[in-house]
Amino acid sequence: MPGRLWTLLEHSGRTVVFTGAGMSTESGLPDFRSQAGLWTRHDPFKTATVDVLHDDPETFFDFYRHRLAVMSDAQPNRGHIALAQLERAGLISSIITQNIDGLHRRAGSSNVIELHGSLSVAYCTWCEGETDGQTLRRLLDQGETVPRCRCGGMLRPAVTLFGEALPEGAYERAISEASSCGLLIVIGSSLSVWPAAGIPHAALRADAVLAIVNAGPTPLDEEAALIIREPAGEYLAAVLLESGVDDGTQSAEP
Ligand code: NAD
Repeated sequence: MPGRLWTLLEHSGRTVVFTGAGMSTESGLPDFRSQAGLWTRHDPFKTATVDVLHDDPETFFDFYRHRLAVMSDAQPNRGHIALAQLERAGLISSIITQNIDGLHRRAGSSNVIELHGSLSVAYCTWCEGETDGQTLRRLLDQGETVPRCRCGGMLRPAVTLFGEALPEGAYERAISEASSCGLLIVIGSSLSVWPAAGIPHAALRADAVLAIVNAGPTPLDEEAALIIREPAGEYLAAVLLESGVDDGTQSAEP
């Protein structure tokens, strides 16, 4: 029933979207709680941590080699593209994402807060010089077990690992967005990773309406005015159709 979300969107005044890994499963990227795929070899909660990066970088990069390759080859799905079009039409103010895959920006969304950073950037742990994620990928693909900067320091992806703080200012900006919207739409998140999961709470404290588009249950289901259990990409494409603002890019993209 795309009409129900469209009605909320149309009347919200200001809409902010909060996305998680479920936003990108239709682009072929598994979430953390799926049954199959990427996570069968490694438990991300044990591998993608700051302690593993420093104590056992070979294991960390063995995990990230695959992750970087899969994520940089993925394409935005119909949901990412629909959100970008709704933003261009002035119906969405910003997207706060927990995802590190960069797919919202690649779909054309411009006001995106990447709460956990992005795999499109890497930096050196010694000199802090930045490079792009593709350089990191190339080094790993060439067989480096621990990728190195020219200065000899270790290159790492600019993403928030378990045990690390969020990028400076990102959480504050996200809270400010969530606290000043009329409608917050959660898409594809189990709302179980903190502090990111605090974003919808901030919106509720500011009396925003909460809508949840998520395949599984979340701790905030009882607070939501609308819960949609359909695949997010498919559903958002239908909302876009309902809105009448499709500018033609939906069908041009994969
Ligand atoms: P999560 O794995 O905890 O929850 C994902 C939720 O999305 C689940 O409740 C699932 O039922 C739902 N879902 C899956 N596919 C869906 C679909 N097509 N339509 C609607 N709902 C769908 O993910 P999370 O809440 O984002 O937290 C996990 C952490 O993992 C986050 O920090 C995130 O940054 C990171 N992560 C990111 C990526 C990515 O960048 N693509 C992928 C995996 C994990």
